[in-house]
Amino acid sequence: MKIAVFGTGYVGLVTALGFARFGHKVYGIDRDEDKIKSLQKGKIPFFEPGLQELLEEVSEKGLVEFSVDGQGPVDEAEVIFICVGTPPLEDGRADLSQVEGVARFIAEHMKEYKVIAEKSTVPVKTSYWIKRTINLYKKADVDFDVVSNPEFLKEGSALEDFLYPERIVVGVESQRARDKMEELYRDFDAPILFTDVETAEIIKHASNSFLAMKISFINMVADLCERVGADVDLVAKGMGLDSRIGKKFLRAGVGFGGSCFPKDLRAFYRIAEDEGVDFSLLREVEKINELRPVKFVDKMKNVLWNLKGKKIGILGLSFKPDTDDVREAPSLKIIKLLKKEGAEVEAYDPVAAQNAKKVIPDLRCVSSPYELARGANAIALITEWEEFLKLDWKKMKDLMETPLVFDGRNVLQGRKLASLGFEYYPVGKPPLGRVNG
Ligand code: NAD
Repeated sequence: MKIAVFGTGYVGLVTALGFARFGHKVYGIDRDEDKIKSLQKGKIPFFEPGLQELLEEVSEKGLVEFSVDGQGPVDEAEVIFICVGTPPLEDGRADLSQVEGVARFIAEHMKEYKVIAEKSTVPVKTSYWIKRTINLYKKADVDFDVVSNPEFLKEGSALEDFLYPERIVVGVESQRARDKMEELYRDFDAPILFTDVETAEIIKHASNSFLAMKISFINMVADLCERVGADVDLVAKGMGLDSRIGKKFLRAGVGFGGSCFPKDLRAFYRIAEDEGVDFSLLREVEKINELRPVKFVDKMKNVLWNLKGKKIGILGLSFKPDTDDVREAPSLKIIKLLKKEGAEVEAYDPVAAQNAKKVIPDLRCVSSPYELARGANAIALITEWEEFLKLDWKKMKDLMETPLVFDGRNVLQGRKLASLGFEYYPVGKPPLGRVNG
């Protein structure tokens, strides 16, 4: 099948290369010329495991082409995916102007029947607006269908998630569109749930909001555990053994970030409110999450006394491991709070330093965890990159001025650190190796 994908960011590029891998001919279109130039030269413009190799593989077979101009691709493609950004407006609602832009472009250029698939995460009823836009702007009297095909991939394992999804959701309004989407996904080994369009749109927002809710829930449990000397990791384990609850997304820490959860949560309760449904539960989820970095820095203050002039090393900048994405990353909020208190902050991340410096230009980034440890009064682990689990903590301690470790993700071996002479401060469990006054 011939497919066009508008937007070659994390979702669009994975979608384009993923479908090409199944033998479809794919046209990737992006208005960002630098991105397209890079892709035409055979280079992935951001970090995501496996994509570079797949780009080389499908380019060699001639299965993928990239361009800034979408006219030819709209002509050629049977299915057109919209994978552009839907960033938050100031009031939390989704900014759908990029989606509208693509819908308009398709309308002005399509000459025969097309299936237009919204893959961007959008509020319910967006497909109605896409349809209306196309009907308003279309030049030729042609038929089309709009389907909702939300994407559930996670950055860091995006390709794997796309190729081997747990489910494929497709909201359709006609048998013709359903047949096309069925054909497109024929070789995927996953259940396809066909629904109406509004239901599919809600499934995506509801899924992300529910996962965010699980994280905020366990983070509040962590606060209670800290007060009474209980262990949140064991509480989560005990809860998670109940199959009705499940053990995933019950990891206490410094909160969730990224380009999806915070914005989708907000957009979801906003659209609910616009429809007269008071979803204040989700406002609480957001409030809890926004306070996580504040509470983490408060904890550091309680241990370090004055933060002014103290040298703090931040391990990990990306919002999660295996990505260079720092959008809404807790690390950046923590760094800003520490700097406000007068701390001297340095950071290390295997791939995200450059992106972090775009947000905090005067951030000092070093090139190894050991450099970070040199002269540090404390190390705070914010992103659980695997390489941080294998550090030589004896060497780290020898380099540090005072041996304090704050584990914002509960991934380090606290007992071992304590035996090396560290004071170890996890989230939602008792500290170890504490030196009292
Ligand atoms: P992104 O910002 O990485 O990419 C969006 C791309 O669209 C950019 O390259 C931009 O230049 C391009 N674009 C904007 N307007 C365009 C136009 N008119 N024509 C062509 N290209 C245009 O965003 P992303 O992370 O890929 O997310 C895209 C959508 O997918 C969002 O709605 C997001 O919520 C959703 N989503 C993201 C993830 C994720 O993990 N990143 C997962 C699931 C769903």
